[in-house]
Amino acid sequence: MSMVIRSLEPYQDFLAPQYQNFPRGNYVNILMIRETLSETIFRTEGAAGPGLNKEFVRLTAGGEPVPRVVITKRKQVAVERRTGRELLRRFDMLYSANQKGGEDNICALNRNNPCEKCIDCMLYGYAVGGGGAQRSRVITQDAYSLLPAGDIAEERTFNATYDDGTMRDPINKEPSRALSENEYVKPHSHFLDVQVLKDVMAEELVYVLGNLLRSTRYGAVSSRVGRVTNHIIGITFSTCELYSNLELTEEVAGLLPEEPELPLLTQDLVPPVRETAARLAGQACGRVQEMPPEELDQLVAEVRQLYRQEEGLQALLRQLEGKYPDRG
Ligand SMILES: [Zn+2]
Repeated sequence: MSMVIRSLEPYQDFLAPQYQNFPRGNYVNILMIRETLSETIFRTEGAAGPGLNKEFVRLTAGGEPVPRVVITKRKQVAVERRTGRELLRRFDMLYSANQKGGEDNICALNRNNPCEKCIDCMLYGYAVGGGGAQRSRVITQDAYSLLPAGDIAEERTFNATYDDGTMRDPINKEPSRALSENEYVKPHSHFLDVQVLKDVMAEELVYVLGNLLRSTRYGAVSSRVGRVTNHIIGITFSTCELYSNLELTEEVAGLLPEEPELPLLTQDLVPPVRETAARLAGQACGRVQEMPPEELDQLVAEVRQLYRQEEGLQALLRQLEGKYPDRG
């Protein structure tokens, strides 16, 4: 019996019924406000450098570029893939990368041994030295803080001193880097982000939504702080790519009062972000169909319900897996 996600039935036009080898240009645009719920340090995945990831971004045409904190696309995808793969591992849905079998050969991130058949490999993509490759169908972009870094970042110096109470290393006399290493993003800071899925099946959309709703740790691994929640505030189906995170952030930031009261409230941001996104989507050269907010709420509720009782979820994921090629 085929399991369906009821809230997605009206949008079948934009979802693939089966896995397709060739792209058709159907997009699902997931609009999110990512919000920090604790002090958080964002760094490039794998980078050990001090300080937050920042980039100077021009706010308005002719305006001064303002430094904004960045959550890199690499970081976003790494966190969300790990969340999904935990689930697949629990369900024994990660496979051996070769004929040898054994724990060491099971599909793993960054070990150069993708199994080429699990949901993670098929959806987020893989490349192997010897030839096989699957392009990622999850398209991400760097997300910029809505407010300038100066408004949302804070420096902590409480543990910046060495044993001798100075700010210089007593051995090599290097100045302490702890000051910049302890630069945090404050709680209730917001990042606007659109995650775009290309040519996906309904079950794949559910899997990605699950990863977004369940991922909470986007901060630097070493920092042990950094709780983030992803508010999914819009889904738009389209036959072309819509706007960029940068355009969206610039437009919404331009609507904020010059000296906004901080922290901003997420509920106050939802209407202007939705309206701006809809306006930008309206400039697209292709078919665009927006999911009304009440239908989106239903879909999110349906996904949450599915993840609460894992039998149904596992059945859905097995059904999805059965649609991938070369599985026997
Ligand atoms: Zn795999």
